[in-house]
Amino acid sequence: MLAVQEHDLAVDRLVHRRETLPERAELAAVDDEAAAVDAKLGDAAGRGDELERRQTRLEEEVAAVERRITEVDRRLYSGEVSASRELQAMAAEIEALKRRRSDLEDQALSVMEEREPVDAEVSELEAQRLALDERAEVVQAAIARAEAVIDAELAVERETRSELAAALPTDLATQYDRLRARLGGIGAARLVSGSCTGCHLTLSAIELDRIRRAPPDTVQHCEQCGRILVP
Ligand SMILES: [Zn+2]
Repeated sequence: MLAVQEHDLAVDRLVHRRETLPERAELAAVDDEAAAVDAKLGDAAGRGDELERRQTRLEEEVAAVERRITEVDRRLYSGEVSASRELQAMAAEIEALKRRRSDLEDQALSVMEEREPVDAEVSELEAQRLALDERAEVVQAAIARAEAVIDAELAVERETRSELAAALPTDLATQYDRLRARLGGIGAARLVSGSCTGCHLTLSAIELDRIRRAPPDTVQHCEQCGRILVP
């Protein structure tokens, strides 16, 4: 009976160790850090995208002005127009379009300059994210190794436990399982110097005497905690 109890406690310790591997806390910390980097990355990438859209719009505007200049220029020198007033107006329009183009080009350049540090920030955050992914992989591998070692020990403990439990009378095994489930993992305890090692309370002299006189094959329970008592 007590051997089953010992192996059950060994299983409990192994399961607890498996659940509380220090690498799990480390992995959680790495995940938290990754989430923080993701948030920053989302913000920086959003700013970068917005600047990229502004740059594209400005470049499209430059191209449109460019087309208009070419068109007016072609008409100006085509000989289709001869009225000097109209020719002057066209030349003036070209001048205005060129000023507009120069202004748009300046704006596009300044957006490009604005993008540089943002793009650098995105690259830096992406590198951090990659490093965290690699770190997580290493920790996950360490967890898997530790789990494999514990699982091998668990398999041995469970096998031994079930062989020992199979030798117990069925109703005793059932009683033990119920008590163990209800009483913090300990269903059977030894009686040592008049005390139950399950609840650490001293049994009364009358109770001790009764246990001593009981036939050896009867199951005894602690009067305080109810656990199976093994003399
Ligand atoms: Zn007890």
